[in-house]
Amino acid sequence: MKTVNHWIGGKTVEGASGNYGPVTDPATGEVTTQVALASADEVDAAVRVAQEAFQSWGQSSLAARTKVLFAYRALLDANRDAIAELITAEHGKVHSDALGEVARGLEIVELACGITTQLKGELSTSVSNRVDVSSIRQPLGVVAGITPFNFPAMVPMWMFPLAVACGNTFILKPSEKDPSAANKLAELASEAGLPAGVLNVVHGDKVAVDALLAHPGIAAVSFVGSTPIARHIHTTASANGKRVQALGGAKNHMLVLPDADLDAAADAAVSAAYGSAGERCMAISAVVAVGSIGDALVEKIRERAEKIKIGPGNDPASEMGPLITAAHRDKVASYVKGAADQGADVVLDGTGYTVGGFENGHWIGLSLLDNVKTDSDAYRDEIFGPVLCVLRAETYEEGVALINASPFGNGTAIFTRDGGAARRFQLEIEAGMVGVNVPIPVPVGYHSFGGWKDSLFGDHHIYGNDGIHFYTRGKVVTTRWPDPSEAPAGVDLGFPRNH
Ligand code: NAD
Repeated sequence: MKTVNHWIGGKTVEGASGNYGPVTDPATGEVTTQVALASADEVDAAVRVAQEAFQSWGQSSLAARTKVLFAYRALLDANRDAIAELITAEHGKVHSDALGEVARGLEIVELACGITTQLKGELSTSVSNRVDVSSIRQPLGVVAGITPFNFPAMVPMWMFPLAVACGNTFILKPSEKDPSAANKLAELASEAGLPAGVLNVVHGDKVAVDALLAHPGIAAVSFVGSTPIARHIHTTASANGKRVQALGGAKNHMLVLPDADLDAAADAAVSAAYGSAGERCMAISAVVAVGSIGDALVEKIRERAEKIKIGPGNDPASEMGPLITAAHRDKVASYVKGAADQGADVVLDGTGYTVGGFENGHWIGLSLLDNVKTDSDAYRDEIFGPVLCVLRAETYEEGVALINASPFGNGTAIFTRDGGAARRFQLEIEAGMVGVNVPIPVPVGYHSFGGWKDSLFGDHHIYGNDGIHFYTRGKVVTTRWPDPSEAPAGVDLGFPRNH
């Protein structure tokens, strides 16, 4: 069986705790790999390596850093397929989807290649007599990233490229469910010339995470995962004096107005609800149909959903793969099984689905629930599977009120031909990312990604300008060079004024 070990100080470091976690191929249900689970002592050793590396990397020139990042970009580009294959083998998503994830992660590496312009400081000359003021941003030190299973390459790449471009050193704690892509990313960074100890990968579970949150050598923590854990990370890391951004779960709504192109809306709903088997934080999991279009829209979604081909992610014919674990599949199924009792009409029931020749895979078919009640479990919880809930609203206002009552506020979308309504929606909706006729509005790398309410804890969104701010701290320098011929000003206990 393959073993995934840590990557610390530019090399593979075998796990020393004696604890390993199983990694399963979701398409076959077979345990293919074991991953080392770090103890608090191993986390401490990694932090010390990263602290040592920071001594020189934090002082390195922008030219030296960007040289590595450009080489890294080229290596990632050349290894897209290899990374995508690792993702599919452990996560289960189809190869084309895994390639999409790599491409979106690459956007952040490309942003990091331009760090020279992003880190330019500001200078005001002659703010007072012979006084100049400059603002600069400096790295924090050692920062940590803790990432979820659903994007094993992209979410780490939301974090470490910018962190190291800003001069920090980094400890990545990937999901223990699909750990291999993270090691590949780190190995390629080394090959690109990133000095040893700048990017480290420490595998583990709650033990490793809590050790990072408590470690005095960690200056900041970036987290992406479920809401309960995001809350724990934010509370604990903040209490320990760290800067923290913790992105949580979601329930993303798509509001479809009566004037929308229903075919385009149905295409978008099916793509965004069932892509990656619904295991996306930006998946559309609730469609709100406004006015009398509900029945027609549900019918169009059903027609499309029934045609989706489910199968192993490495089969080019597959459009949707399995779920990450059998336990998660069973939990997703329980929402569908309980839906009718809680008042929903079950239009499509994907439970009990299996793929011939892969009977032990974590399969589930597509489910479509109509007339879902807002107090039902299927609506209230983040299901994180291929289950789409449809709700009805009489008016635009009722639809917006329904969406704004959700505790989550990650992404949302409106489908309409009415520019005025779309503009109103942008301003009135309580979510961090809004799509207008765009179902999965994941911002490009040079804008920042983040939700509102229970979808994000902390002040900073991730990547883009917010990412650069998160991984640096500001310093303002006020300088006076008096003319040597000037007489000293003398003692003045008054508060300094500019003149
Ligand atoms: P998760 O919260 O279970 O795990 C995320 C990370 O936290 C993993 O590295 C895991 O090892 C660690 N962890 C798990 N339990 C822990 C505990 N008790 N204490 C300390 N650390 C712990 O999330 P997941 O199941 O891997 O990922 C799916 C979730 O992530 C979904 O809720 C999804 O919406 C969310 N997500 C959010 C975004 C976003 O940008 N907002 C992006 C991707 C995924």
